[in-house]
Amino acid sequence: MVDLKHLVKKLSQFKILLASDIKQETINDIDENSLIQKIIELRNVAIENSSTENNNAKKLELLKNDDIERIIYSIKNEKLPRPIQSSIAGEFRSEVAGIEEKFSVDEKEIPKVTSIDDFTKYFKNRLEKIKRILDKKPSISFLNNIEEMQKNKYLSGREIAIVGIVSKKIITKNGNIMVELEDETDIAKVIFMNKQGMNTNLFKDAEKLVNDEVIGVKGKISNPFIIANEIMWPEPVIKLKKNFEDDFSVAFISDIHAGSKLFMEKNFQHMLKWINGKTDGNTEIAGKIKYIVIAGDIADGIGIYPNQDKDLQIQDIYQQYSLFFNMLESIPDYIHVFVMPGNHDATQRAEPQPPFDSTIIKDFKKTNVHIIQNPSYITMNGLEVLSYHGTSLDSVIAAIPGLTYSRPEIAMQELLKRRHLSPIYGGNIIVPGIKDNLVIDKTPDILHMGHIHKNGLVNYHGVKILNSGTWQAKTEFQIKQGHIPTPCKMPVFNSKTDRFTIIDFAIS
Ligand code: FE
Ligand code: ZN
Repeated sequence: MVDLKHLVKKLSQFKILLASDIKQETINDIDENSLIQKIIELRNVAIENSSTENNNAKKLELLKNDDIERIIYSIKNEKLPRPIQSSIAGEFRSEVAGIEEKFSVDEKEIPKVTSIDDFTKYFKNRLEKIKRILDKKPSISFLNNIEEMQKNKYLSGREIAIVGIVSKKIITKNGNIMVELEDETDIAKVIFMNKQGMNTNLFKDAEKLVNDEVIGVKGKISNPFIIANEIMWPEPVIKLKKNFEDDFSVAFISDIHAGSKLFMEKNFQHMLKWINGKTDGNTEIAGKIKYIVIAGDIADGIGIYPNQDKDLQIQDIYQQYSLFFNMLESIPDYIHVFVMPGNHDATQRAEPQPPFDSTIIKDFKKTNVHIIQNPSYITMNGLEVLSYHGTSLDSVIAAIPGLTYSRPEIAMQELLKRRHLSPIYGGNIIVPGIKDNLVIDKTPDILHMGHIHKNGLVNYHGVKILNSGTWQAKTEFQIKQGHIPTPCKMPVFNSKTDRFTIIDFAIS
């Protein structure tokens, strides 16, 4: 549910005002982010056209109830991506074979722990990077550090705003939430009141705070506490639709689990044939694929969980990878493939994970296949994609109320909001280097993950959040946990339509 006051405030950041005739009922059952995004999209279109047409752009600055109703109607009637249907096979001709590939992968140094001192440096770097993002928020000025409150002997009643790492969160005797916010100078005790009917959204937001995330808080000093009235997350500002020069597509894959009895090899092979235009049906989408990004859990591995050997088709780890690399041989040379590891894979388990080394790759060599780190920031003909396997999603789903395995994209949204791929330290294994390379300092066009084995897609502030599911059938373990995977559904993004099409290879 969208809170009208909150919406007014959010839109005012983009210089868009809402008329006083807007009713709460109008916006009751719409997602706030989709609404904001659509309003901004329309405003930008209006600005683009305003040089030739009348001044539509001006008119959109103040939105009335009618306008909002119209916008909500159009959001609700937007087409969702649909699986393609079989049609007559034509002769396959790749349209993108001739397009020049222009890609780059942001290679960061994989950190190594050298001393216990690195711990402090790691969190200091996380705080610095995220504070820089928060400092850009309009109309708010944070204290330089928490110590300033004491140094300047601020009295009770004074309004302040601070940034810090959540180092502790408890429920007090009175049912309020007390959070300790820490920086390198001091610790502040922040209270989120649990008052019925009053600022209940703030309390609900506070319930979602997790250890080690960096937030901004505005509140009133009530010594020795701060009574919070607002939480500020380093969430990205609205990302606008890009205009790409080339018409090309990117296919997204995760969690192949080669070597598992449950790896759906036939379906995967069918997909590879489809990419080559060698199947019945629509070859138009396949013909535009220029890139494939594979976000980890390439092989099933060995000894990843108790009694895994019973679930393995291939007991030898090297042969699991041979199966995978052999399959890649059939991908045409004009398609560039990026391969990163996940938590099942044979590389350093702690994140960031280095790329597979030569013991795994062996003599496989194809110049169009790129072996990269987890996570990686990949730019493809102007399209910016941040791919991460998604191991941290387990701890995030467990820690934040309301998140479930059935909607991985919402959990991913919480990560983007916090600008961190793995905010809860210790939730999964991280190497605390001098730099925190898991901070999302550049907002991508697409945030891509796997690990949950469930497809998901949501638009958050203009960033397309995608979980590309799996190629492994439902495991015994998942049945016990009540997880419902969605195998063999491959999302394909097209640069011109700005949309995903989900190609369903589940039945083949
Ligand atoms: Fe997996
Ligand atoms: Zn995984």
